[in-house]
Amino acid sequence: MSGALVVQTSFLGDVILTTTLIAELAKRGPVDVLATPIGATALANNPDIRTVFPYDKRGTYGAALGLWNTIKELRTRRPYDAAYLAQGSFRSGLLAMLTGAKERIGFASSTGRVLYTRQVRYRPDHHHAERLWSLAMSDCADPPTRDQIRPRLYPSDDDRRSIDLLLRRSGSTDEPFVALAPGSAWGTKRWPYYVTLATRLAEDFRIAVIGSSADSEIAAQITDVLPAGCVINGVGTLSLLASAELIGRAQAIVTNDSAPQHLASAMGTPTVTIFGPTVPEFGFGPLAERKAIAGHESLSCRPCDRHGPQRCPLGHWRCMRELTPEYISSLLTEVLNPPVPV
Ligand code: SF4
Repeated sequence: MSGALVVQTSFLGDVILTTTLIAELAKRGPVDVLATPIGATALANNPDIRTVFPYDKRGTYGAALGLWNTIKELRTRRPYDAAYLAQGSFRSGLLAMLTGAKERIGFASSTGRVLYTRQVRYRPDHHHAERLWSLAMSDCADPPTRDQIRPRLYPSDDDRRSIDLLLRRSGSTDEPFVALAPGSAWGTKRWPYYVTLATRLAEDFRIAVIGSSADSEIAAQITDVLPAGCVINGVGTLSLLASAELIGRAQAIVTNDSAPQHLASAMGTPTVTIFGPTVPEFGFGPLAERKAIAGHESLSCRPCDRHGPQRCPLGHWRCMRELTPEYISSLLTEVLNPPVPV
């Protein structure tokens, strides 16, 4: 059996949510995945995947040559029974067609839909994890169970060891901590009060700071104000799956509407997500069982962008500036102390 190909060359969060589709397809046969290099790191060790093909859309050889080389590599397999277009560009559709895939399945709203053999309705009212899962299902399928739309990540033994080491060096492997993920690729999605929140939380918790090297400056601002022995600094030094492991060991995480909330969804970590210019109704909210959503409900300019602009087009950035540390702290208390069922 040749199996299925999943094409997902979008943002990291989309790749993590695509693991719902991959898990469903893996029940039927082998699954290969084409993903960006960073996306490929999120899919490492995933037992539902036969092979991950990293594909750099902006690679050194240019888009056309890179695309051709990727197609050649994929054609070393027998033609796939089906290709699933989790990312909807014309280029992805073309790539799937040139692999010889007999069926090409994607969303009816996608740019590349003219190349699909089956178009699936894009449900704006569903979470994106469910939308992606639905690519594997017929139109009359039952709604998914909670487990079917649970994103999956698989940190390795090395990832676990690196977190053991980080925690030991930070003073304790057992003491509970709260994770903060202050970064985002989009400027208006970065809530501006993480330093104040960290100071407040440090009275009760150790604090882990999570992010990439791009977040070093805000991480330094946070760690500078906290007492020694209270900080676990995981910014810029951990692999993606080691970051997931660290998040998985946290009591809870406070994050922007960005990739760390999807890491937390996969690891089941109680989550507070801060939404500024975007809204959870886009389908990218937290999926952990215990979660809370912060957002400025009464602001008429919100949402102003699908991703979040680098700067507020109105200049005031009220969607984030008016979400206070006290408010976020109160949401964190809620997810840490769920009501006891009667
Ligand atoms: S226009 Fe409104 S929603 Fe957009 S960044 Fe500015 S304050 Fe936020």
